[in-house]
Amino acid sequence: MRYRRLGQTDLEVSVLGFGASPLGNVFSVVDPVEGTRAVHRAIDSGLNFFDVSPYYGLTLAEQRLGTALVGRRKEVILATKCGRYGTDDFDFSARTIVDGVDASLRRLKTDYVDLLQVHDVEFGSVDQIVTETLPALRDLQKAGKTRYVGITGYSLETLIATADLAPVDSILSYCRYNLMVRDMDQCLTPFAKENGIGLINASPLHMGVLSSGEIPTWHPAAPEVWAAGRRAAVICKAHGLRLPEVALRFCLSEPSVASTLVGMSTVEQLEENLRALEPSDDTNVIREITTAIGSSLNYVWPSGIINSVEPSGRVETHDRS
Ligand code: NAD
Repeated sequence: MRYRRLGQTDLEVSVLGFGASPLGNVFSVVDPVEGTRAVHRAIDSGLNFFDVSPYYGLTLAEQRLGTALVGRRKEVILATKCGRYGTDDFDFSARTIVDGVDASLRRLKTDYVDLLQVHDVEFGSVDQIVTETLPALRDLQKAGKTRYVGITGYSLETLIATADLAPVDSILSYCRYNLMVRDMDQCLTPFAKENGIGLINASPLHMGVLSSGEIPTWHPAAPEVWAAGRRAAVICKAHGLRLPEVALRFCLSEPSVASTLVGMSTVEQLEENLRALEPSDDTNVIREITTAIGSSLNYVWPSGIINSVEPSGRVETHDRS
């Protein structure tokens, strides 16, 4: 395993991180015993960064991860989130954040997390997040309930606008840097670098589009994007490769990212994802995939409340494949 420092924190996170949302049955119903096995095998393999949220599976993912980490808590860097709860309820008020963190800590069976993140900032007002939410997180940091403070979201514009106004230790963006969409490195990556903020890249499989498996019905991408994912899988197969491994390796090769979070719930997935750490020259297959994705490349969807939303549709990037 390779490790990178998360921004200016003292957290040395594994470049491959464990996204725990699947443990909450977010993508499909998973076996909790197998999920625990995957968590343990991940730790035994040197993977130390785990990310979860009370939102995933109506708190189920936090409960299951907390149970799996009993006796192993000190071996991991644990991140959770606040501000997004229930099926789709947002509340970024200080009161809810403080109560919500105590509930998360109970479920995670620990008295602190290493990173507490405001979940999906584009669903709040930048003003409230800067003047109320993040100060509440800093108070929780002083109280020892979290070691560091971060923000997460889909809208790169809102993530940057927020971090520009209030210092944060890390920024997590999802579905903005993988084989399907590659605009994170146009704006967020240089911003994070200039400001010494740790960068976390989530959803390297585009939330299942690049997993070769079932795509969840809630997935926000257009059907053309799903179809492009299936074409990419066929190309990989023709090369004797598996799409998830190629897609993950593509993300892991971005040196500005401290950790790439992939959602996992089985030992088999973990083993395959660990193989993506091994070097391989995927240049030709990635070129073919990029051609096959065609006009679905860099297709982004609307996310968040009206005053902070980015336009959807195709974004222009300099193709690096
Ligand atoms: P992902 O792109 O990592 O895809 C996950 C899907 O791929 C799941 O269905 C999983 O079972 C499947 N998968 C994983 N490895 C596989 C393999 N080797 N073969 C076949 N299928 C495989 O999407 P994600 O889970 O949404 O993102 C990763 C993590 O990032 C999340 O679990 C979460 O912790 C974090 N995240 C955070 C935010 C946020 O804060 N707003 C948003 C998205 C993701």
